[in-house]
Amino acid sequence: MIIKYRDKPAKIAGYEALLKRLPAHHGKRGLIQEKLNGARAGLGGEERLDQLLESFDPPYPYLLLQGVELPGKCQIDLMLITPSWIMLLEVKNIAGRLRFTENPSALHQLTPTGETKGYKSPITQMETAEMKITKLLKHLDCPLRVKSALVIAYPSQIVEAVPSGIKVWSADEVLIQLDRLQMAAASISPGQMKALGDHLLSIQDHYNPFPLAPKFNISPDEIENGVFCPRCRLKKMDRFLRKWECKSCFLLIGDAHFEALEEWFMIYKSTITTAECQEFLDLPDRDTAKRLLKRMGLEERGGRRHRQYAKQ
Ligand SMILES: [Zn+2]
Repeated sequence: MIIKYRDKPAKIAGYEALLKRLPAHHGKRGLIQEKLNGARAGLGGEERLDQLLESFDPPYPYLLLQGVELPGKCQIDLMLITPSWIMLLEVKNIAGRLRFTENPSALHQLTPTGETKGYKSPITQMETAEMKITKLLKHLDCPLRVKSALVIAYPSQIVEAVPSGIKVWSADEVLIQLDRLQMAAASISPGQMKALGDHLLSIQDHYNPFPLAPKFNISPDEIENGVFCPRCRLKKMDRFLRKWECKSCFLLIGDAHFEALEEWFMIYKSTITTAECQEFLDLPDRDTAKRLLKRMGLEERGGRRHRQYAKQ
């Protein structure tokens, strides 16, 4: 059974927000777009595997965790727990021809347009995850063995020079490969397996990729302020009779600032003051900013003169 479903990575919404608020000719747009495309492709590959595993019905008891993040920056695309072993799957969705190199380990991509790009070795990534989970299990006195495999999301990805001893599966064969895996004698009971799954869920440690502007060395004055219309996206809204109005498509709504403030936290920092809010949302006065912030359910920090609102 699946005990953890996949979440959309938060950084996707962050890159989208940053691109929306950067001027059309800003020099960092290309880099951010590339990051966004990579994150979307990664999610697409993982979701394809999730779909292919919908009919997963192996001859052994199991738990599946889709996209689990554990302490020590240990991110696993798919984890399968059984009473005799744990299998970790690392999914790659990088188009074109992929060649593994050793000394040093890397992955080289020849893109469909003939460009060559280098990536961190997914094998190193996979083996690091395997090592971290093995240590974690040891710490928990859990006798399960850990295995791992690299999954290539689409048949159009051509893989070359896979080092010996490394499992690389196409997403289409994962179902069969997992089904065929031999069950050694059970090391833990179904109850202990369930307890282990619950424990891993309870110690999840979500990596916070925000705020993005400092990471890309973008200063606040390069980013556009204002509340964007959720319908026509590009036009900014004005505050009118305690609502937000789009002068372009005439949409009139009350809570358009929610999305804008979420974007503030993703782009700038994890706190905001009423003065910053007034400027960021282009509000006519400080009182309106204070009223809107009070209704956001944010954590309030500091005294009245230096109050900050923080995302919980
Ligand atoms: Zn509009």
